[in-house]
Amino acid sequence: MNIVLLGAPGAGKGTQAQKLVEEFGLAHISTGDLLRAAVKVQSELGLQAKAYMDAGKLVPDQLVINLVKERLEADDAQSGFILDGFPRNTAQAVTLDSELAAMERNLDAALLVDVKPDVIVKRLSSRRTCRSCGYTAPAGVDVCPRCGGEMYQRDDDKPETIQKRLDVYQTQTAPLIEYYRGHSILKEVDGDRPVDEVYADVRALLTK
Ligand code: AMP
Repeated sequence: MNIVLLGAPGAGKGTQAQKLVEEFGLAHISTGDLLRAAVKVQSELGLQAKAYMDAGKLVPDQLVINLVKERLEADDAQSGFILDGFPRNTAQAVTLDSELAAMERNLDAALLVDVKPDVIVKRLSSRRTCRSCGYTAPAGVDVCPRCGGEMYQRDDDKPETIQKRLDVYQTQTAPLIEYYRGHSILKEVDGDRPVDEVYADVRALLTK
C-alpha cells in the first residue's frame, strides 16, 4: 500500500500515519521530520532548510525531492510507504508521479484528513512535540508518553508562524486535493473527531 497523506498542518496526519505504520508495517516518510533531523545535526541540508522552516515557508522543491527519492529507494519502503507532508505543491506531486513511474510503482490513495482552519489554529498553538521521536500531544504533557523524551513547542507552532503556514497550505498544497481527485485516488475523512474514530474511517477507506 502506497499512500500520500494530505491535510493542513495540525490536521493529525502524523498521528494517523503512526497508526497505519503500526498496523500495516508501512515506511513512514515525513519530510517535516526528516528536515527537522537535518536541522538538528546541522547538515548542509539542515542549514539550507532552517530559515524557510522558521518562517513557515516551503523549503525549495529540489532539496525535499532529493530527500524523498532517497527514502523511497530504501529497503523499508519497498513493501509500502506513507508520505506525510509531501507533496506540498503541484510541482512536487508531478515529480513524485514520474519518480514512482520510473520505479514501476504507483500511489494507491491520497488520503485527505480534513480539519477546518479555526480548529487547526487552536490545535497547533497548544501542540507540543517530542524532541527525540516526534510524537505530538497537547500542552501540559512535558514528558513524551512514547519514549520519555522532552516535549517542546516547535518554533513554527508559535502563533506568528501558524497563520503563515496555513496561508501556504491554502495557496500551494490545497490544490493537490483536486489533483488527486482528478487521478481518482482521493479519499477523505473528517479529522475533527477523536483519533480512534478518525482511524476507523481511515482503515475502512484504505482496505475496502
Ligand atoms: P511539517 O512538519 O510537515 O509541518 O513541516 C514543517 C516544515 O518543513 C514546513 O513548514 C516546511 O518549511 C518544511 N517542509 C516539510 N515538508 C515539505 C515539503 N514537502 N516541501 C517543502 N517544505 C517542506
